[in-house]
Amino acid sequence: MDLESTLDREFRSEISRDPLASAPKEEASQDAKLPKKKAWTIEDSEQLYRIPGWGEPYFGINSAGHVTVSPKGDRGGSLDLYELVEAIKERNIGLPLLLRFSDILEDRIARLNACFAKAIARYKYNNTYRGVFPVKCNQDRHLVEDLVKFGQPHKFGLEAGSKPELLIALASLNTTEALIICNGYKDREYIETAMLAQRLGKTPIVVIEQLEEVDLLIAASQKLEIKPVVGVRVKLSSKGMGRWAGSTGDRAKFGLSVPEIIEVVNRLKKADLLASLQLLHYHIGSQISSISAIKDAIREASQVYVELASLGANMNYLDVGGGLGVDYDGSKTNFPASKNYNMQNYANDIVAEVKEVCDGREMTTPILISESGRAVASHQSVLVFDVLGASEILNGNAPEISEGDYLILRNLKETYETIKKENYQEMYNDAIQFKEEAISLFNLGYLSISDRAKAEQLYWACFRKIREILRGSDYVPEELEDLERIMASIYYINLSVFQSAPDSWAIEQLFPIMPIHRLDEEPTERAILADLTCDSDGKIDRFIDLRDVKPFLELHPLKLGSKGKDGGDRESYYLGMFLAGAYQEIMGNLHNLFGDTNVVHIQLTPSGYKIERLIKGDTMTEVLKYVRYDSKDLIESIRRQTEQALQEKRISIKESQMLLQNYEGSLSGYTYLQD
Ligand SMILES: *Cc1c(COP(=O)(O)O)cnc(C)c1O
Repeated sequence: MDLESTLDREFRSEISRDPLASAPKEEASQDAKLPKKKAWTIEDSEQLYRIPGWGEPYFGINSAGHVTVSPKGDRGGSLDLYELVEAIKERNIGLPLLLRFSDILEDRIARLNACFAKAIARYKYNNTYRGVFPVKCNQDRHLVEDLVKFGQPHKFGLEAGSKPELLIALASLNTTEALIICNGYKDREYIETAMLAQRLGKTPIVVIEQLEEVDLLIAASQKLEIKPVVGVRVKLSSKGMGRWAGSTGDRAKFGLSVPEIIEVVNRLKKADLLASLQLLHYHIGSQISSISAIKDAIREASQVYVELASLGANMNYLDVGGGLGVDYDGSKTNFPASKNYNMQNYANDIVAEVKEVCDGREMTTPILISESGRAVASHQSVLVFDVLGASEILNGNAPEISEGDYLILRNLKETYETIKKENYQEMYNDAIQFKEEAISLFNLGYLSISDRAKAEQLYWACFRKIREILRGSDYVPEELEDLERIMASIYYINLSVFQSAPDSWAIEQLFPIMPIHRLDEEPTERAILADLTCDSDGKIDRFIDLRDVKPFLELHPLKLGSKGKDGGDRESYYLGMFLAGAYQEIMGNLHNLFGDTNVVHIQLTPSGYKIERLIKGDTMTEVLKYVRYDSKDLIESIRRQTEQALQEKRISIKESQMLLQNYEGSLSGYTYLQD
């Protein structure tokens, strides 16, 4: 399918909403809960993990029950993600692994530009769209280089929010006519550098965000004898929604109030630079989930735009900032993890609104700019990580209890045996009460530790029996709604949330997470994920759902590997985290000194794929260097200590060599666990 017809589908979906989204919540969650009546199908997995909702057109499930990646969207070519990971592992590259699909990046840029092109044609808008990528979203050199390359046909530019990002943008962007939008706090050096870049044939636009910057700009212009292209960032009173609502309004950190903008106009006029003022910029926050917020903002900004023109500014660009959302949970709603519009709706509303206001004032329409970061960069990377083990709620049979056992244990056993559909609610409360009594008796020294163990086993056995009844029934009493969460297993993952999904920890952002194989098998476990760090916040216990958030993720039981139970090995179980290509990489931190993961760039070829680039993750030597340890010094310290221990005959020569070898080997190794 070509991009045009893909976009037609985006258009149509304005009318035909996601069938999953319109299903009432009860039905959807029950489907996931249905007891094993019929065999589990791939469609069941699709519905459970909502992959059509958030994954189309890039991610799906094939008949082998593996996740597939179609890096060119629905324009053909698809890879089996599980097989891809296995093939990469054969090259001795371990998990966790960040897979980058540059074709997806290309498709996102093409799609964004096509949506604006389509809207421009539809509304007979008499100017163009010229987007920029906000570098702060993902500054990775390879990604920025790819962006510049794929953006060339669309004259796609870059946005810098700081001096270092300006340096990246100036050096990387060589597309003629592509814009370099210069945002963020600026000093003299920033402004002069941006202006001088004009002499290199670039098109920098210096956006004034603070009143003082206008004086720096006027001084630089006079000193360099360069007429810059200048923008102003307005604080709109239209609010964004959700987390970033504070990005606009009177108390916003950035931008100028309307009186301040008038002051900028006056100062520029006095310096004979009013003709330089050509751009109006606003940014009402990221991940705007509601189309009405987008409409309100563009309406207000369009009025400011035409007013600036009437004050004598040479207005030519309207920059709508970021905010174009990503549907992380696939619900197509205005829930924070979603958005109730698609990319085409977004482009349509911006184009239509600006045209209407400009036509009303008989003004030429501006070149439209968006600074879409999240919507461009999120889909291109997939993080694959393995599960190291699981801790399940006590799973054994209810222990034998005899006449000679304590009354409390006999009561618990009787409760367990009496649980049935008609009385489970009452029995649930009994089980809780008896268990609490058992703990009190233990604390007072009456129950032995093995009696206490029996009590706890019986208690969980009661809960398991009640859970079975609930899973088979269509009514769950309110007080038992939490039972699945309480009984969820813990799956230990080979990952640091702080390094690879910091927003999941910091701002409770949801990312779709699911197994990348065994999807033709029913996931009978319910689990939360615990990461490698020794921080109790290093966990993921909120997952996407049709509406709101699920406190557990359905996963498959871990299988024993070829060595069997006593060998202690398990068959690998891989999970994927999707749509995390924006912001996570740069905001990730070295908590517990887990470093960058391995990164592999995959490119589609006519015969399959090729590994375009491999960037090995941080070694321990590298992360230790960030905290100013020198690995030579560390080795020397251990060497000295082993020498001492040898002399005092506390260690054998063989042991000392083994210790040193392990120590040195670790230093040059991956910070994550290896199999
Ligand atoms: C962060 C930011 C963006 C990017 O926003 P997204 O929602 O990721 O598209 C754009 N412009 C400015 C000024 C920003 O601060």
